Amino acid sequence: MIIKHSLIVPCYNEEGNVEKFLSEVKKAMLEYTNDYEIIFVNDGSTDSTPKKLREIFDKNKDVKIKVINFSRNFGKEAAMYAGFTKVSGKYATVIDADLQQDPKYAVEMAKILDENPECDMVAAYQSERKEGKVISNLKKIFYKFIDKFSDVDFISDASDFRTMRYNVVQTILSLPEYHRFSKGIFSWIGYNTVSIPYEVKQRESGETKWGLKKLLKYALEGIMAYTNLPLKIPYFLSIILFLISIILVVVFIILDRNLSDAVFAGGYIAALCVLLTSLVLFSQGIIGTYVSKIHTQVKDRPIFIAKEILTYELDKETDN
Ligand code: UDP
Ligand code: MG
Repeated sequence: MIIKHSLIVPCYNEEGNVEKFLSEVKKAMLEYTNDYEIIFVNDGSTDSTPKKLREIFDKNKDVKIKVINFSRNFGKEAAMYAGFTKVSGKYATVIDADLQQDPKYAVEMAKILDENPECDMVAAYQSERKEGKVISNLKKIFYKFIDKFSDVDFISDASDFRTMRYNVVQTILSLPEYHRFSKGIFSWIGYNTVSIPYEVKQRESGETKWGLKKLLKYALEGIMAYTNLPLKIPYFLSIILFLISIILVVVFIILDRNLSDAVFAGGYIAALCVLLTSLVLFSQGIIGTYVSKIHTQVKDRPIFIAKEILTYELDKETDN
């Protein structure tokens, strides 16, 4: 880490925004520091974003600029990860290119880190969602659900718009999982996080890349990565079917005398089928439990994250 502040900017078809974004960042940073860098990650844009970024890179020698051009669209998660690998700042902020997130909040968040040494990360949450009611409510339900069933806390309106110290960046990079769900990662790693509200603006130009289909895929990614609820479904069903088979047997025992032999035999066969199905589902549940452990292991996450280590030789092992 050699400079004060890094801004990571994922860009996917943002030709109408990147220049304005740069000038807004320059304006906002005036009152904070000129020792900052902007890391643009062009996530396989198909418009003239790469050309615009090249021009920005060539023309603006007063700002430290890095541009990473992806070979195709890998998604915002991959873009953020790539940005983190190139951070040279004491602080790093993830911010969208479309100016929905005013760069002035990046300054506000950095100042909070300056003033509060015990704080490791500042997360901006939307004071008021500006999306349609349906999407906004679906998101709320999703966060409530995942918060309830996962081991980590999810804050409903938290976004990726946040500023963190260098050691937090290093920790995020130490989680090499391929299927990344950053809102979960930010919670899972721990650290002292302060939340501040921000007012989300209208998109400057272009349109959102998150249609309902992409959002649902992302939500599924979160559920798969942070809860093992789907794996418990066979267990749950097996118990229900087991109970149904018992009820069937009891019912047929009670009705025993009034039924013909054929109905009587059919009833027991039905109960046996339901019982066998419940056993099959139960064994699937057992396999699921092992798969879930393999799933956790292959993510290859660190077993613990130490924020600071005091030893008899050194005062502080980690770099703030
Ligand atoms: N983005 C990206 N790759 C993608 C989709 C989006 O890098 O596949 C970037 C996009 O350029 C923007 C940010 O991620 O800077 C947020 O995207 P968007 O504004 O479409 O999301 P919304 O604000 O509607 O949630
Ligand atoms: Mg946006």
